Amino acid sequence: MHFGIIREFREASDFENTYNRRMPIKILPPEVVSQIAAGEVVERPASVVKELMENSIDAGADSITIRIENAGRTLIRVSDDGVGIPVKELSLAVERHATSKLVTADELFRIKTLGFRGEALASIGSVSRLTITTCARGSGMGGRIIMEGGVVGKMDSKGVPVGTDIQVEDLFFNTPARLKFLKKESSERRIIDTLLMHYALAYPNIHFRLSEGEKTIIETAGDGDCKAILAAFYGVDVAREMLDVYNEEQGYKITGYISPVAITRSNRKEITFFINGRWVQDTPLTQALLRAYHTLLMVGRYPLAALFLEVPPSEVDVNVHPAKAEVRFRDQDWVFGFVQRSIRRVLLAFTPLPQGSSNQLWITSSNQTELGTPGIIFQETPEQKLHSLDMKGDQVPSVVNQARVFGDVPILRLIGQIGARYLVAEGPDGLYLIDQHAAHERVLFEKLMSQFMDKAIPSQVLLSPATVTFSPAQSKTIEEQLPILKGFGFEVDPFGPNSFQVRSVPQLFGRFDPSISLHALVDEFEEDETPFEKEIESKVAARVCKRLAVKTGQTLSHDEQRSLLSDLETCKSPRTCPHGRPTMIHLSVDMLDKQFGRKGAV
Ligand code: ADP
Ligand code: MG
Repeated sequence: MHFGIIREFREASDFENTYNRRMPIKILPPEVVSQIAAGEVVERPASVVKELMENSIDAGADSITIRIENAGRTLIRVSDDGVGIPVKELSLAVERHATSKLVTADELFRIKTLGFRGEALASIGSVSRLTITTCARGSGMGGRIIMEGGVVGKMDSKGVPVGTDIQVEDLFFNTPARLKFLKKESSERRIIDTLLMHYALAYPNIHFRLSEGEKTIIETAGDGDCKAILAAFYGVDVAREMLDVYNEEQGYKITGYISPVAITRSNRKEITFFINGRWVQDTPLTQALLRAYHTLLMVGRYPLAALFLEVPPSEVDVNVHPAKAEVRFRDQDWVFGFVQRSIRRVLLAFTPLPQGSSNQLWITSSNQTELGTPGIIFQETPEQKLHSLDMKGDQVPSVVNQARVFGDVPILRLIGQIGARYLVAEGPDGLYLIDQHAAHERVLFEKLMSQFMDKAIPSQVLLSPATVTFSPAQSKTIEEQLPILKGFGFEVDPFGPNSFQVRSVPQLFGRFDPSISLHALVDEFEEDETPFEKEIESKVAARVCKRLAVKTGQTLSHDEQRSLLSDLETCKSPRTCPHGRPTMIHLSVDMLDKQFGRKGAV
């Protein structure tokens, strides 16, 4: 956010041209000071929504209504039924450092309200046209005040119901450089949706409603039912699977929801923490969460989580960041450990044990360790295995080098499957171990891409159309991309709020649950990714294939093993998966001889 401000200055004062002729030191004019300060609090429409919602929550509102236009750029209007602002304090409310929530510095360490810096209204008013209409509880008359680009207008009395209505029009109208930094509307809207859902989860007893134009985007009942809010947020299917977290130790409490290991995302964006009701972006806590999932998720996959931490106010410093998005703990290590163990406990209670597979080993368990000696450890994940091979690269150069070579594979004779994860095959020069998941990813990927390039993705009509539910944000992605989804072989029609009916799917995915294939396509769009545009196709295809490929731990029939192997042989780049991991390791006869001490002896 600071870069935005610096650039503004450059544009405003032609900074670069005048730099060599040094300017005299001057105190900045108040409008510039307030715009600098505003930049720290108001970064984008969602920051305005956040500050205004927090004010409504602090005012004890039972109901908060948010209306936006153009994803908040032209209008953000937040109305509540809280205590209101007395008319005589109205002009103070928009002053910087004016707050009703803090009196002495000591109180900073006993803060129970979300606001305390007295900066939000002043900041918002300096970069928009702000109108506050309010009536305080117990006073007969309300009032209205307007502030435009930092200039406070006059105040009128007005008969209005108790509560506060704050309208923010034309955000950043006087700071065009900041406008340029906004993302496209769908992204800004998604940030607002996400923010709102998280606050709705943190305050399930408040009735929230977000609408844009005539359309209600999100509405919660305000009856304390978190599961219903989760369902509105993640879709019913995912919400049903989310695990409850609850733990209390030494005055600390953690509650909330985490995803089981089977539901993951490709980024950390769906991990949210609230501390004492305040939304924070605190990476150490995220690290504690990820540590709890360690070894349970594949590398590069992240859980979904909405977690609410209650900490004694004296143990946490909330005054670290102007947007109050960071906090500092007195005993960071303790909090870290508390979060990690609370989550780990839930995960272990709900995670199925890895499938036992000793009966599928083609070597007996007694000679398994001997075979492991050359540096190939059969029990580890592919990532770990590759790593251990790299480490021992000097000792077994042929393994490492050949695993990395791109190009054809010879015709292979299938021997069988081991550990429900690797196929074993014999080639003209030794033994091949094939990672079934990586290999299948490669096979699916090449088929899908070649069909896509030929613009001939055959689609398969479903006997009975499937109804699939998404989160509001994902639904929007799908709505925007319906024609292109069609190009990929999906025939999808809107079917009620956040639901879609799938009538056909790409033939390649015909045997998968249509809900899983469609989710695989839309779950993981990065915020600014425009799905299916050039270059994105192969990225998207790679992700879908990863999701749909046979899993590690899945026992395959002999026929399935054989067809996987022959499909792999026909691939253009059979030796790596679309993400670049090797699909196979070759142990040449020569290398085996060396390992058995035959070669060196000669
Ligand atoms: P802070 O929240 O840090 O106090 P703000 O600039 O957000 O600072 O708000 C200034 C003051 O205006 C608050 O302290 C509060 O007294 C009053 N105020 C703002 N919004 C509301 C609201 N929705 N209901 C009642 N009072 C409000
Ligand atoms: Mg505030």
